[in-house]
Amino acid sequence: MMVAPRGFEPRSAGVFILCQSFSIRYQSRPCLATAPRGYSLIFILLNYLSNIYVNIYVMDMPETIIEETDPKKLLRQISKSKLDTSKLKDNDHRILGQKLDLFSFSETAPGMVFFHDKGLTIYNELISFWRDEHKKANYQEISTPQILDKKLWLISGHWEKFKENIFLTKYEDREFGIKPMNCPGGMLVYKSSPKSYKQLPMRVGELGIVHRQELSGVLAGLFRVVRFTQDDAHIYCMEEQLESEVIGIMNLIDNFYKKFGLTYHTELSTRPEKRIGSDEIWDKAEKILKNVLESRNEDYKLNPGDGAFYGPKIDFHIKDSLGRTWQCATIQLDFAMPERFELTYTGADNEDHRPVMLHTVTYGSVERFIGVLLEHTNGVLPVWLSPVQVKIISFTDKNIETSKRILKTFKDEGIRTEGDFVSSTVNDKVRNAELSKIPYIIVIGDKEEVNSTLAVRARGKKPQFGVKIDDFLEQIKTEIKERK
Ligand SMILES: [Zn+2]
Repeated sequence: MMVAPRGFEPRSAGVFILCQSFSIRYQSRPCLATAPRGYSLIFILLNYLSNIYVNIYVMDMPETIIEETDPKKLLRQISKSKLDTSKLKDNDHRILGQKLDLFSFSETAPGMVFFHDKGLTIYNELISFWRDEHKKANYQEISTPQILDKKLWLISGHWEKFKENIFLTKYEDREFGIKPMNCPGGMLVYKSSPKSYKQLPMRVGELGIVHRQELSGVLAGLFRVVRFTQDDAHIYCMEEQLESEVIGIMNLIDNFYKKFGLTYHTELSTRPEKRIGSDEIWDKAEKILKNVLESRNEDYKLNPGDGAFYGPKIDFHIKDSLGRTWQCATIQLDFAMPERFELTYTGADNEDHRPVMLHTVTYGSVERFIGVLLEHTNGVLPVWLSPVQVKIISFTDKNIETSKRILKTFKDEGIRTEGDFVSSTVNDKVRNAELSKIPYIIVIGDKEEVNSTLAVRARGKKPQFGVKIDDFLEQIKTEIKERK
């Protein structure tokens, strides 16, 4: 398709005369210019060679926009958004993310993070901690599709209550929604085979990527994202198992936050105005959550009307080192969804029964949790989460060979290690490693080479000399294994 010449305004008229003064030459094929929908384009091509030779083409054009196809210009447009750090505090996760090379954002994907290698390392470690803890608590793990038929969202009720937040797409003339939540997909997995009361409680987790249309804030960093990983889990159980299941989740969440040195308080949110399910069911659900909180002597806050549309919930608000609170974990009781999806299990009486369902998340959004954690720790992450755990520095150029050998040993042992063998001063190299908040800095000089030892500087501590390589390896491996 030909693009209209410079200075040519397709919206100004339905008839366009293209002649040589517009530097358009006669072409053997009809030339198409673009015009708004509904316009008929009449092309009069003047061929000056045969004096007055006129060709008239009448064409009905579809919707047309003169598309910018200059890659250089487009690249300048998408490279525009730069993080303005002037109004941000030093511990802002957006600054830390840039300084420590963890992640970035682009105008091409508003509210969606681009994880760099080091940021992804933190993400993967958090996920592997999640997997270990959930496996210990007898959770299965599943993974469900990203794009699901509109019918599913109509069944789940998300279409009615949440439609404006769902990204839509079409495929083979069917309407699909990009999942804003994992639950409906999870319910199809439950329904894929008959269930017996002996299989309950059934605990199923999914680290699902979800997309939600929110006001896009490219520069709000990880705190306002459109695409995120929800560390979801669903528990299907019998009514009489509910209390003990809620207690089990509370213990799991408690364990998680202790690991990160985060304290929290709980809030109970009750029935909102927009909801599904009968009042009788809501009465029952709210009472169970209340009982659990009271039996644990939780000093909880009551939020009337703040529950999810399908059930009441307990939210966990963590407190960071700056005294701010963040709602991360949640436990939501749900009597409605199993009803909508007609979930059943065969009871001891051989009859069909309806399971009750609990939705829970621990991190909430893994991405947002990384943001909270970075600001809470000012980027000083524990050894197990640090993208680089050890930095090896050569004292002089003479020590490079030995330093490289030690670097390889550490890497072979699974320790995330980097080397700094440039020819600047040791002080400069140590300072750079400290700015990168690396937990251990190891300097190799002549003395270390001769004695086969290490000079180890643990973050925030005085250097230790004459440390045996094996001793250090054992110590750091234990720290990583125990997630310290
Ligand atoms: Zn759910």
